[in-house]
Amino acid sequence: VPHIDAGRFRADFDALAEIGRTVQGGVHRPTFSDAHLAARAWFLDRAAAAGLETRVDAAGNHSATLRSPAPEAPTLLLGSHLDTVPNGGRFDGALGVVAALEVLRATQDAQLVLPCSLEAIDFTDEEGTLVGLLGSRALAGGLTPDMLQAPRGGRPALLAGLARAGLTEAQLADARRDPGTIAAYLELHIEQGPILERQRVDIGIVTAIVGSRSFKLTFKGTAGHAGTTPMDARDDAGLAAARFVVGVHDTVAWDFPNCVATVGRVTLEPGAFNVIAGEAHVALEFRSAEPSQLDALEDALLFRAREAETLGRVEIEPVGRWEPVPLDSTIRSAIARVSDALGLSTIELPSGAGHDAQALAHVTPSGMIFVPSAEGLSHQASEQTAWDDCLNGAEVLLGATLELAGVFAS
Ligand SMILES: [Zn+2]
Repeated sequence: VPHIDAGRFRADFDALAEIGRTVQGGVHRPTFSDAHLAARAWFLDRAAAAGLETRVDAAGNHSATLRSPAPEAPTLLLGSHLDTVPNGGRFDGALGVVAALEVLRATQDAQLVLPCSLEAIDFTDEEGTLVGLLGSRALAGGLTPDMLQAPRGGRPALLAGLARAGLTEAQLADARRDPGTIAAYLELHIEQGPILERQRVDIGIVTAIVGSRSFKLTFKGTAGHAGTTPMDARDDAGLAAARFVVGVHDTVAWDFPNCVATVGRVTLEPGAFNVIAGEAHVALEFRSAEPSQLDALEDALLFRAREAETLGRVEIEPVGRWEPVPLDSTIRSAIARVSDALGLSTIELPSGAGHDAQALAHVTPSGMIFVPSAEGLSHQASEQTAWDDCLNGAEVLLGATLELAGVFAS
């Protein structure tokens, strides 16, 4: 029976955390930075040292493969990412890649022959320094030319990054794989939220990746003199924005317990001590795992916006829309069974954060395993997951891989 080599797994995790290490104890590996490229080279080195087949595809995805001798065996993908947000933590993405590599080695060491090939894959630009889910979308065939025309990191940064990594824009889409060659997709990741820790649960089984919608709102008022305009004669756009921020919070807190909504930016114009705000620009984003909840929440929040601006002069512009992505039920029950057999407690929960699984789920059965994040912190240097939890996650990934290789082989 294959088992995780805890010492080897830990040594690899620690070695990887040194690449791009920050003084705060986190890691800084934005996509195609020197540290990111070094981490990817390290991953291929470790895979080659274990005698695994290595490969880099046209989107820069880095892979290690343990090939099945079965003719036309499909590939079970085990993935995550080695890029990080600026000044990120050691666990986000890295844990999943190192655990996937360890699952391949454990299977190989046990001389177990599976009906699927196993591929540990480090996807390009998961975090969105340049585009977001760049590698996984390319592999799943979901990367469109317009995504590359106005990427969130800016087009010059994208082109410079691709050049640094030896990739070309024209060939990115060649990373697409025939879905018939992929058996399923599995990912181990830290939760990045506080739910598992609060409920003292070992393993999270992800039900869906939440969808999100974002809007730009402009509240219109009348700019005026801050000294000479009486309080009852003001038409203050800042006040409308403030009412709206409170309204967003109250709406979600009272009526939408399974949703989150955020006003992440408020800018007042002209923006001076001595001028009443004539305009307020507000960035609104909200998320839910349920499409019907997203519709209802959108109605409720935009109603709040019109209510906050008593004269009804609010402009509302949709700027982003991601549909929720449900994850595979066969994989979910396999994760539950394997965890149970290992004596680990589980709950099901949606992922509030985006992941490569949301790209893969469109073409292959996909599932995710979460382990607890200390204090729910992530995307920062003090991101922490207890080592026992990392080990539990790797054991569940291994167990689920062995079970699902049989289920999805044909
Ligand atoms: Zn991640």
